[in-house]
Amino acid sequence: MNKASILTLAAFLPRSRANGPGLRSALWVQGCTLRCEGCFNPDFQPFKGGYETSVAEMVALLLAQPDTEGVSFSGGEPFTQAAALAEVAEAVRAAGKGVLIFTGHEAGMLRMSHNPGVQRLLAAADLLAAGPYRRDLPQSHPLLASTNQELVYLTRRYRGVELGPRRSEFRIGTAGMVSATGFPVAP
Ligand code: SF4
Repeated sequence: MNKASILTLAAFLPRSRANGPGLRSALWVQGCTLRCEGCFNPDFQPFKGGYETSVAEMVALLLAQPDTEGVSFSGGEPFTQAAALAEVAEAVRAAGKGVLIFTGHEAGMLRMSHNPGVQRLLAAADLLAAGPYRRDLPQSHPLLASTNQELVYLTRRYRGVELGPRRSEFRIGTAGMVSATGFPVAP
C-alpha cells in the first residue's frame, strides 16, 4: 500500500449534524502546523498520535452510512494529508455524497499550491470553510468560527443550502467520557 493510501486520524464520527449541512460523517486528521491561538482541537495539532487507517477502510465506513448526505474533513489540518483525503473524497463523491473541508489555510494559498495532492483534493471537494482561526475576530456563523474565514463554493452542490443553526453535539462514551463536537452556540 503506498503512503498516499494511509490516513492518520484523530477522530471519526459516522453520523453528525454539527459539522456541516444535514446528516453527515466527519473525520478529523491528526496533525497541524498552523498553531492558531485559541485552537479548539489542540490535541489534534501534534503529528505524533492519532491512529492509522487505510483509504479503503475509511471509504468503506463512509459508504456504510446510506442516509448521510456527505462527509466533512477537519482536523488538525486536512491538507497535510491531501493526497490520501483526495482518494477518499473522490470515492464518496462517486457514490453521490458531498465533501466539505474545514481548513486553516486560505483558499487562495491552496489554489496556488504546487502540491499535486492539494490540487487533487480541491478538485474533489464541494465546499471549503477556509482560513486560520482568529480568536480576536469571533463570529456566530454556522460553519465559520472567526470573521476572517470564508466559505468557498467549489461546486454548485451547497449553493443556497440552509446551513444553520449553529450546533454542538455531546456524546457519552462507553467509559463515561464525554466528548463534544461542532460549534459552540454564541451567548
Ligand atoms: S488550523 Fe485548525 S487545527 Fe490547526 S491550529 Fe488552527 S484551529 Fe487548530
